[in-house]
Amino acid sequence: MAKVYIRGAGIHNSGTIALVNKTGTWKIMEPVIDNPKCIGCKICSQFCPDDCIERLVVEKDAPPETPRIVIDMEYCKGCGICAHECPTQAITMVQVEA
Ligand code: SF4
Ligand code: SF4
Repeated sequence: MAKVYIRGAGIHNSGTIALVNKTGTWKIMEPVIDNPKCIGCKICSQFCPDDCIERLVVEKDAPPETPRIVIDMEYCKGCGICAHECPTQAITMVQVEA
């Protein structure tokens, strides 16, 4: 039987609707990353309930403004947990433009 990858399935409780559905138009807040503040620690990724933060591979001597994570906004629900857990306050939640 073919395996089907479901985003976030490893960390969600079974039956959670969010793990298969993309975010609809109801999202009111979204995270914005201040790249120079991000140290690439991946804590935000470990706490994101929708498993939509990926850490990028970055050279050690890369400029500070180089992105170290990327957030898949199609799945981000705007919960703000990543911003709350970030040790360097590199993530700010902002209102989604209508
Ligand atoms: S928790 Fe903060 S510093 Fe760590 S990777 Fe995420 S945004 Fe960057
Ligand atoms: S706001 Fe919530 S869903 Fe979106 S990236 Fe942060 S932790 Fe994940």
